[in-house]
Order: sequence, then structure tokens, then C-alpha cells
Amino acid sequence: TPNRKSSDNCSFVSSLFVQEKQYVGFATLPNQVHRKSVKKGFDFTLMVAGESGMGKSTLVNSLFLTDLYKDRKLLNAEERINQTVEIIKHTVDIEEKGVKLKLTIVDTPGFGDAVNNNECWKPITDYIDQQFEQYFRDESGLNRKNIQDNRVHCCLYFIPPFGHGLRPVDVEFMKALHEKVNIIPLIAKADCLTPNEIKKLKDRIREEIDKFGIKVYQFPECDSDEDEEFKQLDKELKECTPFAVIGSNTVVEARGQRVRGRLYPWGIVEVENQSHCDFVKLRNMLIRSHMHDLKDVTCDVHYENYRAQCIQEMTSKLAQDNRMESPIPILPLSTPDVETEKLIKMKDEEVWRIIFRRPQYFYAELPSSNAWNKKL
Ligand code: GDP
Repeated sequence: TPNRKSSDNCSFVSSLFVQEKQYVGFATLPNQVHRKSVKKGFDFTLMVAGESGMGKSTLVNSLFLTDLYKDRKLLNAEERINQTVEIIKHTVDIEEKGVKLKLTIVDTPGFGDAVNNNECWKPITDYIDQQFEQYFRDESGLNRKNIQDNRVHCCLYFIPPFGHGLRPVDVEFMKALHEKVNIIPLIAKADCLTPNEIKKLKDRIREEIDKFGIKVYQFPECDSDEDEEFKQLDKELKECTPFAVIGSNTVVEARGQRVRGRLYPWGIVEVENQSHCDFVKLRNMLIRSHMHDLKDVTCDVHYENYRAQCIQEMTSKLAQDNRMESPIPILPLSTPDVETEKLIKMKDEEVWRIIFRRPQYFYAELPSSNAWNKKL
């Protein structure tokens, strides 16, 4: 107002300032990140492993409502006698409410199918390592902007419902992969079992996973400030592993509704009915709640372990022979030993921080530099 005194003016200005200060605007940062991510699109690489006929393709189709296996060629028994494990990639672009997802399914036909299944997981571990290696090369190269990330974020491992727990091949497979990828074990074709049998088999598998020291994917701790309903759902999710799943490519009519299910002479099994199987829990977890965490763990734990190991191997090779050329292009090292030592130390610190946050990723054998040993 025209009659306002200068002191009034001061307090007017300062109150304006206080008001302004209440909203600077960085609260929009999540929106900016959201916009940018949506624009860029998302990618996710899912591996499926288990014997042929376990229902892998049917489950993947049921999960993503696509037909990823149109051109699949099934081999007969004779052809499978000496079959080696193949790695086949299927990629689809899915869009939902403007959000684009590039989904890659890595299939492993031939796993466990031959007469001699000795080391049949080797091509699979090699494949995972090759993706890490490629990423490491790209990351250390000149054009780091458009790196294509083919690292495997999750492996659904199908355990047959017919046995009494894990078979030796299941134990060997999971032990060979658990430090390279997030393994989610599943009980396949759960409609073969009664609820009581499912419970028994789950208990048995959980016990054996513990007994053999297999590190399957662990769901992160629920934040303490989450609401009670969320905490309850999180608890149920954790208690329900290994998920007992059913897949179907057909739509049937049940209770007056068209649903994905399997029609038997004695009734209908509904894929999405939570009292019939854990399909919905698996889908919610994999797609709606934990996809990002699976990617984070891949990047922060599995890839970091690979990378630390790589750098360590390169350092010792360089120390052995200074003139030797590294097979993997790394940053130019002016004084290789000191620089690399520093890098390893930093990486160790980083990996340690991650493990401290997620104690289940305790890898005693990796990395083994001085910094690491001191912390132990
Ligand atoms: P894959 O070789 O592991 O990919 O197995 P497929 O998805 O091709 O399935 C092999 C057979 O099992 C097909 O006849 C499917 O219809 C059937 N199948 C798939 N999922 C299930 C399931 O959850 N329960 C039962 N009972 N059969 C299934």
C-alpha cells in the first residue's frame, strides 16, 4: 500500500522470501526423472531355464500376454540325445499406457535333456559372462552413451513338480549361476499337486536351498514407513517362495468369465486365481514391484563382482608382464599399479557398501584385495 513504512516493506519482503523459500521447485525432480525414463523406455532381460516340457514357454506367454515362441522347432527324442544347450534370444517391444518395455527372453533349450547332463549349465554361465564382458568393454570404450545392455537381470528356474525336492542337476545349476544372476526358483506345473503337496515341496526346497548354500534372489527389506497393508503383502510374498506356477495359452470360461486357464474333465484350473497357484504373485513381483530391484542387483552386485574380478586379473597380469597387451580395452593407465590399485580399492568400498545393505550377497571369495580383507 502507498502508506506502508519502510520497516513494513522489509517485513513484507522477508515474508515473501519465506513464502518463496517454501517452494524452490526441486520437488519436481522425480517428475523430471519420470519423464526422461518414460521417453527413453525400459529394457529387461529374463532368462528361463529348466528341462524341456516344463511349461517355460507357456508361462512366459502367460506372463507377458504375447506369443514369443511362434517359430519354435521342437526336437524329437533322437535329436535330443546328444543335443547341446543352445541359447536363443527372443525380443519384443511391449507398450502399456505410453510406457515402452523392450523385453528380451533368453531361452536355454536343451538344458537337462541329453543323456549325459554333465556341466550342461556351462553354456548358460558362459553366456551370462559374455554379456558382462561385452558391457565392460563398452563401458571402457569411447562411446559410452549408447551402450546396449544385454546383461541378464533374472533367471526363472523351473523345478519339476514330480520329485521330492531338488535334484542334483537343480543344485548344480543354481550353484553355478547364483553369483552371476538373480535366480528365482519356480515349481513348474503346480496343477499336478494338491495344496498339501505344494506346501511340503516348498518347505523341502527351501530347506535344501539353505543346506546347499544356494543364494537365490532375496527380496529387499520392506521400508519401515510403508503402510501395514503393503507390509503384509510383502510378508506373504516372501513366505510364498518358491512360487508354484501354472501356465496356459488358452482362454476358458469359469464362473461366467473368460479367464486364462486349463480345462480338465474334473474342472478348470485358473492361472490368475490365487487359490490355485502363485502366478499372480510372481507376475506382480517380477513386473510390478521388483523389476527395478532385479536390475539394480544385477548392476550393483553381480556385475560389480565380475568387474572387480576382471580388474584384479588384469592388474596381476600387468604386474607379471608390463608389456603384455590387455585383451580388454581399459582406461589408459599412466602408472598402472597405483591407478588400478586405487580403482580396485574404490570398487571394494562400493561392493562392501552394497553387501552391507544386502547381507545375503556375501561373497567370501570376492573380491580379495587388501581393503576387502581388512574389512572382514
Ligand atoms: P517348455 O518346453 O518348457 O517351453 O514347455 P511348454 O511351454 O512348451 O509346455 C509343454 C507342455 O506342457 C505343453 O503341452 C503345455 O500345454 C503343457 N503345460 C504348460 N504349462 C503347464 C502347466 O502349468 N500345467 C500343466 N499341467 N501343463 C502345462
